[in-house]
Amino acid sequence: MLSNQRKLDEIKTSIIADKVCPDLAASATRLVFGDGNPAADIVFIGEAPGKNEDLQGKPFVGASGKLLSEMLESISLGREDVYITNIVKYRPPNNRDPMPDEKLAFLPYLQAQLDVIDPALVVTLGRHSLNCFLPELSISRVHGQPKRYKDRVYLPLFHPAAALYNGSMRQTLMEDFGRIPAIINTIKKDKVNILNTVN
Ligand code: URA
Repeated sequence: MLSNQRKLDEIKTSIIADKVCPDLAASATRLVFGDGNPAADIVFIGEAPGKNEDLQGKPFVGASGKLLSEMLESISLGREDVYITNIVKYRPPNNRDPMPDEKLAFLPYLQAQLDVIDPALVVTLGRHSLNCFLPELSISRVHGQPKRYKDRVYLPLFHPAAALYNGSMRQTLMEDFGRIPAIINTIKKDKVNILNTVN
């Protein structure tokens, strides 16, 4: 049986072989696939790599990544305990928002990553990430509230970049983030049914 890491490596290889978003691939320095524990309980999903991520080949290594690491520390976790990735795996030119067709093109590979890791909780960072999975929900209404959909539990959070220069949003993000251990506990105790289900 292939290890989770080998399976993830195969998905990464297939993104290149399948020539997903060739224009983005041409303008980016490299593919930023994902990083962390391939059998993590929690997967964090951002939007797309920025400049630092594009240079280093790892997600969330710039200013937003620093805030994400601080928040992880606040719940006694390190980056190596969780898995971190993005919807779109190449940096969009000038950090523009990813386009709908780009998000759609990468979605099967993101789903495949989730199928391999099979986390207890998927944390979406920002509206792009939330709306990839739950298009009807508005981040400002549902942030911090775990949502069960099909066989997964999602926790929508604000994007760390939005919280960097906005004190009240940062406070909200920290509070929402602080709920993660209790949510994981609930899921692991198989009390998942008490969580709000999205139909
Ligand atoms: N913002 C994201 O959405 N992803 C990254 O990897 C970095 C910044």
